[in-house]
Amino acid sequence: MLKSINHIGIAVKDLDVSSALFSKIFKVDNMHFETVVEQKVKVASFKIGDVLIELTAPTDDSSPIAKFIEKKGEGIHHIAFESDNVNEELNELSEQGIQLINNQAQPGAHDMLIAFLHPKSTNGVLMELCQNK
Ligand code: ZN
Repeated sequence: MLKSINHIGIAVKDLDVSSALFSKIFKVDNMHFETVVEQKVKVASFKIGDVLIELTAPTDDSSPIAKFIEKKGEGIHHIAFESDNVNEELNELSEQGIQLINNQAQPGAHDMLIAFLHPKSTNGVLMELCQNK
């Protein structure tokens, strides 16, 4: 079951510039930084209430985030919903005809398992399912 919004992913070109900007806006002094090799992204994140904001920059030109920015520019990239069991969720949604980008959960930031649904199936909204390991 999808139970809450875990985080909102924002695509940015330059993580240093954007993390400084968001630190200023939200008065954040403990921004968390990490690189997710599997997703070819660098992430800077902080919490607003129970929701994480993840500033996400590409590590190279072949990163899906680089392609997103090239097509659409910087901005909101995805909304991530927390699940108890991402793989079970993917199977159910697939059976209901929802197109998936990932058929199986993959490693994501914050030591979570993640998978994306195809935005063609979800009114253009890129939705991620995530689960604590
Ligand atoms: Zn995410």
